[in-house]
Amino acid sequence: MAGKLYVCPTPIGNLEDITLRVLNTLKEVDFIAAEDTRHTIKLLNHYEIKKQLTSYHEHNERDKSTKIIERILCGEDCALVSDAGMPGISDPGEILIKEAIMQDIQVVGLPGPSASLLALVVSGLRTDKFIFEGFLPSKNNERKNRLKDFEWEKRTIIFYESPYRLKKTLKDMREILGNRKISIARELTKKYEEISRGTINEIFDKFGDREIKGEIVIIVEGNVKDKIIEYDITIEEHIMQYIDKGYSKKEAVKLTAKDRKLPKNEVYKKSFGIK
Ligand code: SAM
Repeated sequence: MAGKLYVCPTPIGNLEDITLRVLNTLKEVDFIAAEDTRHTIKLLNHYEIKKQLTSYHEHNERDKSTKIIERILCGEDCALVSDAGMPGISDPGEILIKEAIMQDIQVVGLPGPSASLLALVVSGLRTDKFIFEGFLPSKNNERKNRLKDFEWEKRTIIFYESPYRLKKTLKDMREILGNRKISIARELTKKYEEISRGTINEIFDKFGDREIKGEIVIIVEGNVKDKIIEYDITIEEHIMQYIDKGYSKKEAVKLTAKDRKLPKNEVYKKSFGIK
């Protein structure tokens, strides 16, 4: 009988942030597939767990997946871990998980830390609807173009960013998205944890010339403004279009005012010449 693949989240800084179930799973499986075995060994040593490790990182994900799947199909249970947080979230894991599902292997996901959700919930920004973008491209033009995709995004957006690029990215965000409200979560769960909330300009004032170090998540408020649609027809023509579709003049005025986000009175005055 085939074994199982356990997806095991690990701490993002504080070694105590690991569930009892993840610890028991790491003890019980036959082997652990780790993004960096040297990193995972420190976690295992801390919890006195001795287990066979095999490396599974972005450069060998495909080849390694095949080998890991073969072992699971032969009956071994495997725990998948990354260096920190949830495997598969800006970390290796997706390929192995997809392959396991294709081979009808049972994939057991265990809950646990991810910097993304933690940064979102402490941001003070809307948490009811959000999207995760992960890392932006490092090349200037590509990064700016990607940011343009979010100009009219209403949901809160989660970005991962390197401390070296933070100020550049914030400048690009201010230029493309405007002086939005943001929250910078730095070194979450670690000794120097710091959450900075405010508009992009306020964050620049706060950081000043300070060199920003450590791991960073940027949370950006969605666009709270309504999109202004530029019409290439006059208000009168707009009303006429509705009348031509069979609406009464009164209804056409109401709909035009709604489309253009104008007071009904203003549109009504323009309808005087229309029979
Ligand atoms: N799999 C991880 C997760 O679930 O959060 C993410 C791994 S990704 C390679 C690493 C990035 O996650 C960092 O560059 C940073 O943006 C974010 N990150 C990880 N740990 C963090 C922490 N303690 N504080 C703030 N951001 C963190």
